[in-house]
Amino acid sequence: MNIIFIAAPAAGKGTQGNYLERECGYYRISTGDLLRKEIAKKTALGADIENIISKGELISDKIINTLLINEFKKINGKKFILDGYPRTLNQAISLDDIIDIDNTITIYLDIDLETAKERSLGRLICPKCGTSYSKDNPELMPKKNDICDDCHVKLIVRDDDNEETFKKRFDTFLEETKPVLSYYQYKKKLYKIDARLDDDDIFENIKKILKSVDVDKK
Ligand code: ADP
Repeated sequence: MNIIFIAAPAAGKGTQGNYLERECGYYRISTGDLLRKEIAKKTALGADIENIISKGELISDKIINTLLINEFKKINGKKFILDGYPRTLNQAISLDDIIDIDNTITIYLDIDLETAKERSLGRLICPKCGTSYSKDNPELMPKKNDICDDCHVKLIVRDDDNEETFKKRFDTFLEETKPVLSYYQYKKKLYKIDARLDDDDIFENIKKILKSVDVDKK
């Protein structure tokens, strides 16, 4: 089963996506990571993207859809996780033309504003592989202070992980992305998980959902 994660910022999509990638052989597509890679290239497009992300707004469908379609070409038949797409109803409708919805489920990681804000403001990321770490949560701290466990480079704070931009990103989620949940609920493709739980428990719940869907399909 392919998985689409839908969640407010800093709910844990990336962390859970990483677990699934490492343990279950998924190909993870994070539109946020794709955009940050574009910024790192220091192109004119990257500069435009940086400006929009720093305001907590959404990138245009034209740009994001092009990046996404290029990424889909690399999947090589693997099952995939979509982390950060679709974020609008229009994106959800476009996605129907690209993926096989019968083999895909949507998981909503449900979180409240305060918990998400705390996680966002305590987050560090690896500029090379995009893995998220936490300054506060012992389960998600790097083994060595401020250094990525895998790439051994210095971790950074994302430009949009500040209080003001976080609030705007959360509002954008409520206005633009929450309606996408009803779209998948109507298609009977929506599963909800309490994202305030520990990472391990969230991961267990995701695996339970995947198992139950597989059993239903047989
Ligand atoms: P988070 O979920 O913590 O906000 P992401 O890395 O998923 O982090 O996204 C960071 C930013 O990238 C978003 O605030 C938005 O500006 C942009 N972005 C990511 N995915 C999309 C998308 N599907 N459509 C438009 N903008 C996107």
